[in-house]
Amino acid sequence: MIVLEPAHLREIVSDCERAFPDEACGLLVGRTEGACAARAVHVAEVAKSANVAEDHRGERFEIDPALRLRLERTLRGTPRGVVGLYHSHPGGSAQASAADLERAWEPDLAWLIVSVLDGQAVQATANLIVNDAGGAYFAEVPLRTSNWRETGRGAPIEARGFDLPDPN
Ligand SMILES: [Zn+2]
Repeated sequence: MIVLEPAHLREIVSDCERAFPDEACGLLVGRTEGACAARAVHVAEVAKSANVAEDHRGERFEIDPALRLRLERTLRGTPRGVVGLYHSHPGGSAQASAADLERAWEPDLAWLIVSVLDGQAVQATANLIVNDAGGAYFAEVPLRTSNWRETGRGAPIEARGFDLPDPN
């Protein structure tokens, strides 16, 4: 599960819409609780990146390595770290692609993927990398903003107008 503030999700969504038809990308800073596919990734900060890929259309993005380095340096010795990344799929679905999997060489990073159609973000997914006997693959996990809450039946509903604390 990825949990983030509504304002952070809006920030990501507007970055992805702004970049259209190119791919937007950035890093997620926060902390991780638990392990493997059951872990919860709590986002505390969104760090937008320039897309430094030579070809940023058609499934190509590359986060600025200088940004990553700068963040790692700033976060050293704090409880926070780089816990994930986001990027957009202009004209594509929000599901992780084969190209994404090829580049998912950091199993600890959560992937937030935003589908942007005609310049408008239409869907976002949260994905964690799972490594098992069958190899590595992306598992789609719940994406929650901190103002969502679980109902008794376990279905998530948005608590509009309420300022609920982080459910975790
Ligand atoms: Zn992708």
